[in-house]
Amino acid sequence: MEIENSCRLKVLISEEQIDEKVAFLGKAISRDYAQVRDLVLVAVLRGSVYFAVDLSRNLSIPFILDFIGISSYGGGMEHPGAVRITKDLDVNITHKNVLLVEDIVDTGLTLNYLLKKLRIRNPSSLRVCTFLDMPEKRILDVPVDYKGFEIPDAFIVGYGLDYHEHYRNMKVIAVLK
Ligand code: 5GP
Repeated sequence: MEIENSCRLKVLISEEQIDEKVAFLGKAISRDYAQVRDLVLVAVLRGSVYFAVDLSRNLSIPFILDFIGISSYGGGMEHPGAVRITKDLDVNITHKNVLLVEDIVDTGLTLNYLLKKLRIRNPSSLRVCTFLDMPEKRILDVPVDYKGFEIPDAFIVGYGLDYHEHYRNMKVIAVLK
C-alpha cells in the first residue's frame, strides 16, 4: 500500500510506535491482573481485532479471548450512536473479570452501549482498554482505564480501522483526508 505517495493519507502513528505502545499496555495489564485467573478479553468486531490480537500476545497472564460484534443502525443522524449486537459473546462473563478492548473511543456512544450490555451480566469487574482516544469528539463521559494514544479530531484509518472496509490491514495509523 503506497502510504507515503498517497495525498489522501497522512501517517499519524508509525508501526514502531504502535508496537511499543502495545507492549507497554500489555505489561501494564499483565501487572494489574497478575492475581486474576478468570480474565476475559472482549474484542469488539471488527475494528479492534488487530489491536486485541497484538495486545493478547503481549500478556503474560492467563486469559480467554472472546468477541462481540456490533453494528450501527444505518449510521444516520436520526439515531446517533444507536447500535445493536450482531454477534454475542460465547463466554459467560458473570463473576468474571472483563477487559473490553476497543479500537477507538470517539463520541463514547458505542462504548456506553456496550458497557451497559455487559454490566447487566454481572461481571466481577469491567474495564476498558482502547487503542485510540479522541476526547474532542466526546458526547458521553465514559470510563477508559487503559489507552494507547490520545489523538486530535480526524478520520482515522489503519490498524483495524477502515473506510468502507479499506485500509484495515495498514500497519500504521493514518488520517484520511
Ligand atoms: P463512537 O461511538 O465512540 O463515536 O465510535 C465508536 C466506533 O466508531 C469505533 O469503535 C469505530 O469503529 C468507529 N469510529 C469512530 N471514529 C472513527 C474514525 O476516526 N475512523 C474510523 N475508521 N472509525 C471510527
